[in-house]
Amino acid sequence: MDNECIFCKIINGDFGTEFVYETETTVVFNDINPKAPIHMLVCPKKHIPSLNELEDKNLMADLLQTVKDVTQKIGLKSYKTEINTGKEAGQEVFHLHIHILGK
Ligand code: AMP
Repeated sequence: MDNECIFCKIINGDFGTEFVYETETTVVFNDINPKAPIHMLVCPKKHIPSLNELEDKNLMADLLQTVKDVTQKIGLKSYKTEINTGKEAGQEVFHLHIHILGK
């Protein structure tokens, strides 16, 4: 856990944020400023600043599996995913996350 990281604090339960879905290695919660009717964020529990620092192939697989499982759980068949990597690409929170956007 990175004590300065807002997503680490969410994952740690500091704000009582509800998790839409959770696995041993990942969590999913709703984006606070949704850009679509459904806007969720899939995060690794471990603090990894961005995709550039992700080396664990099992965790890569877990993140995509979580995308599949959470969308299936809520019955969302059509959706977009987005990973912003680096400030210039629009990354604001430096804890790796996959946006899921749907209607
Ligand atoms: P990115 O620009 O890819 O780093 O996306 C960061 C996302 O995190 C934005 O869509 C924000 O609305 C969202 N966000 C920031 N703070 C929170 C929070 N406390 N709870 C949920 N989502 C958040």
